Amino acid sequence: MSRVEVISAQVPIECENVRSEPTLVRSQEDFFGSTAEISVNGFPSTSPSIPLSVNDLHNTCEDVHIPHMPPLLRGHAELHLRNGVMRASRLSAMHEPDAEKAFFVADLSYVYKQHERWKRCLPAIEPFYAVKCNPDPYVLRVLAALGTGFDCASNNEISRVLDLGIVDPSRIIFANPCKALSFIRNAAKAGVEMMTFDNVDELHKIARSHPRAKLVVRILTDDSKSLCALGTKFGAPLVTVPGLLSTARRLNLSVIGISFHVGSGCFDTSAFADAVAHARTAFDMGKEAGYDFTLLDVGGGFEDATFEASARILSEAIEHYFPNRESIRIIAEPGRFYVSNAFHLAGNIIARRAPLDEGKREAPVPSDEDSKTPRVMYYINDGVYGSFNCILFDHQIVHPHVLSMGGSFHVPSTEPLRPCSVWGPTCDSIDCVCPLTQLPTSLSVGDWLVFENMGAYTVCAASQFNGFEVSNVIYTSGGGAGSLEVRRILSDFSTASGGSDFEIGGGAG
Ligand SMILES: *Cc1c(COP(=O)(O)O)cnc(C)c1O
Repeated sequence: MSRVEVISAQVPIECENVRSEPTLVRSQEDFFGSTAEISVNGFPSTSPSIPLSVNDLHNTCEDVHIPHMPPLLRGHAELHLRNGVMRASRLSAMHEPDAEKAFFVADLSYVYKQHERWKRCLPAIEPFYAVKCNPDPYVLRVLAALGTGFDCASNNEISRVLDLGIVDPSRIIFANPCKALSFIRNAAKAGVEMMTFDNVDELHKIARSHPRAKLVVRILTDDSKSLCALGTKFGAPLVTVPGLLSTARRLNLSVIGISFHVGSGCFDTSAFADAVAHARTAFDMGKEAGYDFTLLDVGGGFEDATFEASARILSEAIEHYFPNRESIRIIAEPGRFYVSNAFHLAGNIIARRAPLDEGKREAPVPSDEDSKTPRVMYYINDGVYGSFNCILFDHQIVHPHVLSMGGSFHVPSTEPLRPCSVWGPTCDSIDCVCPLTQLPTSLSVGDWLVFENMGAYTVCAASQFNGFEVSNVIYTSGGGAGSLEVRRILSDFSTASGGSDFEIGGGAG
């Protein structure tokens, strides 16, 4: 749902000022006339109901400097969206090239809070974060410090996780059922033992290059209700499982359990129950083949909006089909669930195409036809070849809010909304961000739009087609719950030197 909203004014205060009178910074309004940037060390005043002790304040001001990483800021994402817009306007005034470049703001406290939510709803299931969803260096560090495992699909993802310096290879599952031979050999060298398979040829490759691997059969389940069905490419139909297991036995391979994936973006919560029933059958097939399975991997597919319902159905199914599970370790491979809401993307309106009759009085009651015809086409500086590749590959539908309009963050609530379309910057007509969304028609070139829920399958798959760079990421530990915890766990990396160079998206500009 798109809406124009007046973003509630944040009241950032600088750390140094905390103990004295909090300094209200209101200069973010009408920022084009202002040179003062809100301190990036500022964090919005907490509500009076959450008093901060002096100790908390001390912790809050402790800084996190991780070598080769962009800075970790403080404060709500909205604050940094506004700071980014103000920075862009200053750079633009100085005629910097690409001054108004689109940018992400990542609030890492959200990742922390999702992990709390996971532990609350699925305490008996160990999450192995699916790295492909967003291999962001900060996200990986937060999750590594929180103790999750990792689902990797390539050499590169395995190195990224091991290079963090605090993840043992036993915390990685190589969950790609179809791996290059050299990747299997590399996994063996790196000490990664758990890996999935779903076909006989894979077993022969593994027998040659990683005979001590701990194998997990990826079974096929019903994924027809998911945004991204994966079953057309992966998963062994149940009827093929006995054959796979007898081949594995003949090759003297160790098979330790069963995995499935209900499909990415699974809104049909019953899919999990169905998949667990299939896994039960596969466990019994294992017994028949002489294996004693000890691992159940329930895969990914968890959606933010339906998480509690999925968790409940999954837990009930496990209780029902695996009543005696003392010797069974249960893991999952959530991706989207952890990062989707943690990233916001701000895009700048670089061009606009208005109807010829713009300026004439609009009809007071738009007809049904009018409500489906975009009145203004807005062109922004990130599109489907960049961060919005999620529209093509991940079947997402996105809607913007107005971030700034006419040099102000305050969009009058009287501003009427009309059907509009939003387009990316490349010269390809497929580069459409929203074919139809509700926006004011009076936005102009230079105004900013913001898109939420941009953390999953976005920045990691962005290309530089047509010469448009991948958008930068600005990081914050957030401004509310979880912020202190994120800074505390990340400060472990401040001293530890392990860590690969920052690769995605470049610095924070
Ligand atoms: C993509 C993928 C995931 C993550 O899926 P989400 O829908 O993001 O939770 C997990 N496991 C495997 C094998 C995957 O390919």
